[in-house]
Amino acid sequence: MIAQELPTVMVVDDEPEVLMAVTDALEDEFYVLTSTSPLKARAMLEGDDIAPLVIISDQRMPGMAGHEFLRWARELSDATRVLITGYTDIDALGAAVNAGQIFGYLPKPWTPDRLRRLIREAAEHCAVRRALAEERLLLSHLMNSVPDPIAFKDKNLRYLRSNVAHAKALGVDNPDDLIGRTDQEIGAEGAARREAADQAALEAGITVTDIQQDAPASAEAPSRRRWYSVVRSTFKDGEGATEGLVTIARDITAAKEAEQALSEAHATLERRVAERTEDLAATARDLLAARKAADMANEAKSRYLATVAHELRTPLTGVIGFSELLLRGGVSPGEWHRLLTLQAEAGRTLLGLLDDILDLSKIEAGRLTLENLPLDFRTLVDDCIALVRPSASGKGLAFNSAVTSALPAKIMGDPTRLRQVVLNLLTNAVKFTPAGSVSLTAEVLPPPAGLGGAPSRLRVCVADTGIGIPPERLSGLFEEFSQVDETTARRFGGTGLGLAICRRLVEHMDGRIGVESVPGQGSRFWFELPLAVSAEEAAALPPLTGAGPQAPSGRARGGRRILLVEDDRSTQILVSTILRGVGHEVDIVDNGAAAVQAVDTGTYDLVFMDMHMPVMGGLEATTRIRALQRTPDRPLPPLVVLTAGVTAEERERCRAVGLEIFLSKPVDLEKLLLTAATVGLPGGEGDAHD
Ligand code: ADP
Repeated sequence: MIAQELPTVMVVDDEPEVLMAVTDALEDEFYVLTSTSPLKARAMLEGDDIAPLVIISDQRMPGMAGHEFLRWARELSDATRVLITGYTDIDALGAAVNAGQIFGYLPKPWTPDRLRRLIREAAEHCAVRRALAEERLLLSHLMNSVPDPIAFKDKNLRYLRSNVAHAKALGVDNPDDLIGRTDQEIGAEGAARREAADQAALEAGITVTDIQQDAPASAEAPSRRRWYSVVRSTFKDGEGATEGLVTIARDITAAKEAEQALSEAHATLERRVAERTEDLAATARDLLAARKAADMANEAKSRYLATVAHELRTPLTGVIGFSELLLRGGVSPGEWHRLLTLQAEAGRTLLGLLDDILDLSKIEAGRLTLENLPLDFRTLVDDCIALVRPSASGKGLAFNSAVTSALPAKIMGDPTRLRQVVLNLLTNAVKFTPAGSVSLTAEVLPPPAGLGGAPSRLRVCVADTGIGIPPERLSGLFEEFSQVDETTARRFGGTGLGLAICRRLVEHMDGRIGVESVPGQGSRFWFELPLAVSAEEAAALPPLTGAGPQAPSGRARGGRRILLVEDDRSTQILVSTILRGVGHEVDIVDNGAAAVQAVDTGTYDLVFMDMHMPVMGGLEATTRIRALQRTPDRPLPPLVVLTAGVTAEERERCRAVGLEIFLSKPVDLEKLLLTAATVGLPGGEGDAHD
């Protein structure tokens, strides 16, 4: 057996024989260190290579009493101390035992057995104490290495033990400073609340609570309110009686913050989902509305096309039907004339419808360009009245018109389009008035209140005492193909496009149009336009209104020499027949080059010039004719454009080469005759307009 593996026992006695005897008695179980001098023994203890479990000392030694040596040894070693003494030293022995300096004593004379028994007990005592101390150390390492505050309290709520984290949470550096004290005695923050919770746990056995409290700032975590989950659990003694409680507080701030962030994120997400759902619903609604609008637009387009087709078919039936009747032959001259008149009427209706549809589509396509010229509104009104007066008189209607004197002599506007609106309203008034009167008034209204700088307005009213319009039909009256009822067209004719065009024209002129009507009593149609005056410019210019519709064809001043430049055979026949019919002389050429030649060599009072022809078009021919050398006695004849192309651009191109007078195809016979009779003669020049 290796000596060092045995537990060490130190023996101090001044008598070597005693040392020998003790060694003999113990050496089987212990490694026995011996010394005859307390001083030497002390020096051995101070060296840290021995750690005896038991120190045995004789009481009676020269220089130092045994109990004094043992008191000394206590400071250097945790060994259990045993005194060997005689009965004479009984007083000192009692004092040593009472002071806790020795574990036991061995009275002399001792037997080896007794010695062995006592030393075994003492060694065991020391080993147990050492193990206990080690356990305590391990426990305190364990507690202090845990970041959670941990504390033990007895049932009176006094601290038994706490770890560093707990002490720090109470603002105390050393956990040992808490031991034996209550929270209230320490003056810790929240002491009363904590003790109440402790008391509740003592009664309940175990509790778990989440609390929030200010934590002192540390290097790792700045001061802020922190969350703790506190577990309190009681511990019991051997009989099962509650002895105290242990508290473990876990910092759950991160978890709480994460939980809060999560619930905020959740709420945000829910809100976003709700918003997105609403967005999607709105988009779906928009899409539905857009689709509905598109469907409605399509439907409206189809309806419009169906109506157009229907409207075209009616007059076409007349044109075709009468032609077939005539072609079949066997018609008397009187009947012949009647059928031709009806056919011409159907043709005119067709043309009117076509013009209206083109007008509308031009406006719809945004291609309507309004002119802005000085015009005499009074003359314009007179011209329109002159046009409708014959049919009004035919029905015995009275006709009144009053244009305020406040209206300047010349105003700015588009004469053609203004006339179109006035004429439409007048024609309707006459058409839908079986008896009574039709009146037109034009007045100047002051600028609307509150609109600084806005112009005065021209208000035109056309009132009649006719059939009137039911209130429920008033709102759609300015829509396309709106006729109050289906019999209207049959009874009165018309396309149902006139008012729709009027509304668009007036709105294009920045104006507005409206109607008031009482069924059976009459209607009052009105429109208002911003009034622009251009006095000087207007004064210098010839009147632009008045296509001379009231000028009778009989105003022709004898036969004239006319050159007709036209490639279309039927137009050649139609125009020449009509002109020759009233005494004019007509030469025909079918292209521009032939026209230049004819004018150069012949003498003409007037030229009707087509635009689109083979070899040379009308524009080039006109330019060349104007370049011809003429003498005062043989001046250049005036040129009148005769064309099916009547767009604004086309007219512009004509004007650029000096062509100012237009007749459009299909040819209006009245206008053709008037133009042939007057253009180029004093007082008649420039009057032909469509
Ligand atoms: P139409 O060519 O059919 O007259 P409009 O657009 O000019 O087309 O008029 C549309 C409809 O409005 C007419 O068919 C008629 O039913 C009604 N209307 C227009 N003016 C009058 C009026 N002065 N009195 C009664 N009804 C009118």
